[in-house]
Amino acid sequence: MLAYQHAYHAGNFADVHKHLTLFAVIRHLLRKESAITYIDTHAGRGCYPLDAEETRKLMEYRSGILPLWQARRKLGAVDPLFGAWLEGVENVQQGEEERLTHYPGSPWWLAHALRPQDRLSLFELHPGEHRHLDVQPLPANARRIHGDGLAGMARMLPVATPRLCVLIDPSYERKEEYHEVASAVQGLVRKVRHAVALVWYPLLPAGRHREMLERMREHGLRKLWQAELQLAPPSDSYGMYGSGMLVLNPPWGLEEELAMAMTKIVPLLGASARYRSGWWVEE
Ligand code: SAM
Repeated sequence: MLAYQHAYHAGNFADVHKHLTLFAVIRHLLRKESAITYIDTHAGRGCYPLDAEETRKLMEYRSGILPLWQARRKLGAVDPLFGAWLEGVENVQQGEEERLTHYPGSPWWLAHALRPQDRLSLFELHPGEHRHLDVQPLPANARRIHGDGLAGMARMLPVATPRLCVLIDPSYERKEEYHEVASAVQGLVRKVRHAVALVWYPLLPAGRHREMLERMREHGLRKLWQAELQLAPPSDSYGMYGSGMLVLNPPWGLEEELAMAMTKIVPLLGASARYRSGWWVEE
């Protein structure tokens, strides 16, 4: 099908949740010298100009990154994780200092964490999206692959580096994707037990993410931590009302750091916004 284009949603509250979590995980991993392979199974374009025609249609960034950007001077200094993450967002801005012009996607966050000993593989299946990704500047230890991300990841396992970090961020255009993701994480754990994996999922009225989470539990997966950011209470009229992140083998201290940053972020996302986190399946 491949109708989804992330540019329509770039910088929305779900992107903020996903990329802040990814950034926090990477910061933990970088505390050790040993090499890391990163795999981004659904990479998208890499970086999003907010004046792109697609992004201007919905302007979802106005209820995501924009209020945080506007409050950054006050808030960046009070939370170290949020402050460091905002510096990343600042790095991609062009033109006048105060204007928010671009929003960095997952390939940008991953590429900017790469050290000489690390590697990065970015998978993107959509030919048009891959063409955008292809022109992004990337270091020599990053490669982009035009192809299916879950199958591509399975082919890469096990990896040559001591550590592995995977981001699985599908568009869930097909309902089977929820089950495919659960199976992919099971396959990942079989090959690389200690892999850190981040799975993003939408909170939609149909509630299909629950089947994915249940499947992972039934598959016997352990050490699955979950965080959900809701913009509004579940409602059939609202569409995607929240964003979920599942982290396999989360680094120690991740939950507390994110919860602290979220106490600053959530009030900026509106009176109905809520954040909660905890184990989905403990060790
Ligand atoms: N991870 C990106 C980010 O955070 O900036 C956003 C990714 S977007 C939610 C999902 C992307 O997956 C879309 O660009 C879509 O074209 C791509 N896609 C869809 N099916 C795919 C597949 N089977 N393998 C790889 N990419 C796929």
